[in-house]
Amino acid sequence: MYDTIIVGGGIAGLQTAIQLARSLRRVAVIDVPGGRSAVARNYRNILGFPQGVSGDDFRREGQKQATQYGAEFIADEVTGLAARAEGGFCVTTKTRAGTHALLAKTLVMATGMADPFPPIPRLRDCLGLSIFICPDCDGYESVGQKTAVIGDGPHAVQMAAELFFYTKKLVVVNHGGSEINEKEQALLERLGIDYRAARVEQLVQAGGQLRQLQLSSGEKLAVPRAFLAFPGALAQTGLLRAFSVHINEKGHVRTDPRTKETDHPNLWAVGDIAMHSQQVAIAMGDGAQAAIWIQKRLRELDGESPLSPDPPFGRGQSR
Ligand SMILES: Cc1cc2nc3c(=O)[nH]c(=O)nc-3n(C[C@H](O)[C@H](O)[C@H](O)COP(=O)(O)OP(=O)(O)OC[C@H]3O[C@@H](n4cnc5c(N)ncnc54)[C@H](O)[C@@H]3O)c2cc1C
Repeated sequence: MYDTIIVGGGIAGLQTAIQLARSLRRVAVIDVPGGRSAVARNYRNILGFPQGVSGDDFRREGQKQATQYGAEFIADEVTGLAARAEGGFCVTTKTRAGTHALLAKTLVMATGMADPFPPIPRLRDCLGLSIFICPDCDGYESVGQKTAVIGDGPHAVQMAAELFFYTKKLVVVNHGGSEINEKEQALLERLGIDYRAARVEQLVQAGGQLRQLQLSSGEKLAVPRAFLAFPGALAQTGLLRAFSVHINEKGHVRTDPRTKETDHPNLWAVGDIAMHSQQVAIAMGDGAQAAIWIQKRLRELDGESPLSPDPPFGRGQSR
């Protein structure tokens, strides 16, 4: 019986594991490599990394740090979750030998998002270096740079309008082909944003730095930056549908803003699957915050006298 099983070993799951392992808890992180932190090749908005840090490096160091404090890592996919009548959870994983069941008193979902990246050759080499998905994270990288928005119809127009704050040198490439309406066309004209009704067939890059997009029209667009704007990013919350947990129309889980616990007791949700800023620092904050409250709950479950929800912290402040 684990004190806590964490499903997903990206940023949020790792931060939860570090905090809980340092609270002397028996923690397992079950993770199939993947997710956003596995593809983002440079995060530049993280405190302490002025040159940026890749998702891979961040995860490797995080795993090392959590392991150092005793967290266990299991490289399997979680395929089922169930609440046990006697309390706690049963977590089913798919292993090479078949399925395996693990038990835990508390559960943390940290499964992140699945993105619909278009199958453009070498696109992944550039993700987070010169091709981005989030203006809040990386709008800065486009400042003064000619920037293509590769996307689908209205989504691409909306992304271009957001990026207009950072750069005026924009071109929308409607790779997905969904039509844009008159209002959207008028917006592009008003902002002076170029538009191409074409697919990206190839991209030219060197060491992850985008140089050129080769379009289905035959045109070669010299651009050093691009943003992707496709619908269909999915919060990986399907496993939670077995519980009385509120999930919004976009698949994100509602949690208590203070504790990050879901509507189902002893079940927490952290990182990109929660509502709703999808950033590394937020994922880390969620993880640390959830772990603090999980520790309180575990002490109660272990039979310690109920803890005050507002323990004294510092000089009269409360957490
Ligand atoms: C190209 C790109 C650039 C980005 N740039 C920035 C940036 O500059 N700054 C910033 O703050 N943020 C950036 N982000 C966003 C950032 O990566 C995410 O906010 C962060 O990764 C969220 O962490 P998470 O732990 O919630 O999810 P993830 O990091 O996606 O981790 C989820 C983990 O759970 C695993 N998992 C899912 N389902 C299961 C299952 N059933 N069983 C086992 N394991 C499972 C996944 O494989 C994955 O390992 C960027 C994202 C992308 C894609």
